[in-house]
Amino acid sequence: MSPPTISIVGAGLSGLVLGRCLKQRGTPCIIFDRDTAAAAATRYSYGITLYPWAYRPLLRYLDLNEATFQKTVAVDSYIGGVGRLSSHTRHGSNETDGFRANRRKLEKMLREGLDVRWEHDLTEISSEEGSNSMVFGNGQKLQASIVVGADGPHSQVRRAFTPNSNFTILPYAVYNGKCRVDPKTFEDKFAPHMNGANVIEHRIGQTLLQITVADRTETSVSISYTYSRPARGLADLGFTPERSAAGASRITDQLFDEVRSLGVLEEPFGEVFDAEKMRTDRLLNWLMRSISVDAAELNTGAGRGILLVGDAAHATPILGGDGANAAIQDCVDLAEYIVQNGTSDLAGFYGTKDETWRSYVRDGEDRLAKMHGQAGASLWCLETTVRVESLSGTYATVPIGSHLDGIERVYEISARTTMEDQIHTRRATRGTGSCWDMYNAHQSMGIAAAEDVF
Ligand SMILES: Cc1cc2nc3c(=O)[nH]c(=O)nc-3n(C[C@H](O)[C@H](O)[C@H](O)COP(=O)(O)OP(=O)(O)OC[C@H]3O[C@@H](n4cnc5c(N)ncnc54)[C@H](O)[C@@H]3O)c2cc1C
Repeated sequence: MSPPTISIVGAGLSGLVLGRCLKQRGTPCIIFDRDTAAAAATRYSYGITLYPWAYRPLLRYLDLNEATFQKTVAVDSYIGGVGRLSSHTRHGSNETDGFRANRRKLEKMLREGLDVRWEHDLTEISSEEGSNSMVFGNGQKLQASIVVGADGPHSQVRRAFTPNSNFTILPYAVYNGKCRVDPKTFEDKFAPHMNGANVIEHRIGQTLLQITVADRTETSVSISYTYSRPARGLADLGFTPERSAAGASRITDQLFDEVRSLGVLEEPFGEVFDAEKMRTDRLLNWLMRSISVDAAELNTGAGRGILLVGDAAHATPILGGDGANAAIQDCVDLAEYIVQNGTSDLAGFYGTKDETWRSYVRDGEDRLAKMHGQAGASLWCLETTVRVESLSGTYATVPIGSHLDGIERVYEISARTTMEDQIHTRRATRGTGSCWDMYNAHQSMGIAAAEDVF
């Protein structure tokens, strides 16, 4: 019997890697993406660090050697570079052998030969009698026995069967800026301090400044830079966990004041982190989000022929996370699983991934802490009580339960939240977490504000 056609939602890294690997092994697939083809060709021109543990297994499916791969997708491929990282070891590990790839170039290479249906924004998915019905924003309705949700951190596919999965917003104020300089300016002002590297960092106390090369062309060098630091409690104006998506581009004077307060910086950080120049750059407030989907919920989806991969299943924070590497690894492995085992026991794939996926999120959160000079995720949770204000205006002390060890823990929150003395209790078991999980839990209990979290 010929294998069923796999419907993949999302033509990002996960969807494209899965598509290439399935195609190479003779399993038919169609990829649906909400963007237009033109938007896809011009989006995501930023650098991502790729590690051999993730991309080497993929190269076998692409029939490429490592040198050709790096030369094609490296951020500095235009000048014959191979995306050299800095000579520093990575926060929290000894890995130095990765390289900086430009995500747009990587996706362009991966798209070759694939059947991608653009302008297919999945809005609904429902299941009945062994078939899944997908509804798209363009009015199309399609049936599919196997659907893979590769649609990123805000996955619509995930929402169909995991209504309770919420992001953890990690307590960091993070701002990203983008600018371009001409090649001569780059050679004069940046290159002498970068020693051929495409990523450099400078830490001042718990504030981290990062400059990365995103792309190079004949006429310009695209620079992406990040200002980040731990949040300073809920009154911190630089930390906006509840901002809307549109609010990402609303930058207050707080950022520029903070940058000025750093004083005179060594070059090229002084060149980039100049408050007045930054005002003319494209600035965004980034939230450091992570999500892990419960194994039981994943299995429910698998029983209906729906799988999640990449950020849809386990998003990690942009800083510190290995989301792109994880996406590649997931999809090479899923293609191999389907080829070896068929599609009758899709939950079996998750069985091979459970601990790995939890470690992606845990390690990403831990690296984020280390990047900012903190000891690790475990120390975020030293507080034993938080005071919360209820919707009815009363205050209650919220006890936080057992802290089992540094990172893995069970916690319980009980809060007196109404005049009727109603006690709301929420108990959760998490592979990772921080005080911010608890804040999120309060929010979902309907409590207006939490104070003294840190
Ligand atoms: C600025 C930045 C820097 C990063 N740096 C690194 C790094 O250095 N190292 C690293 O490992 N990771 C890094 N990451 C993370 C990495 O890019 C992601 O983890 C990775 O892209 C996840 O791939 P994905 O395919 O699962 O999801 P995505 O890349 O989010 O792709 C999802 C796709 O689904 C499509 N889609 C979404 N919703 C729908 C819908 N309803 N219907 C149809 N299509 C839909 C989208 O258009 C998109 O094409 C970085 C991320 C950012 C933003």
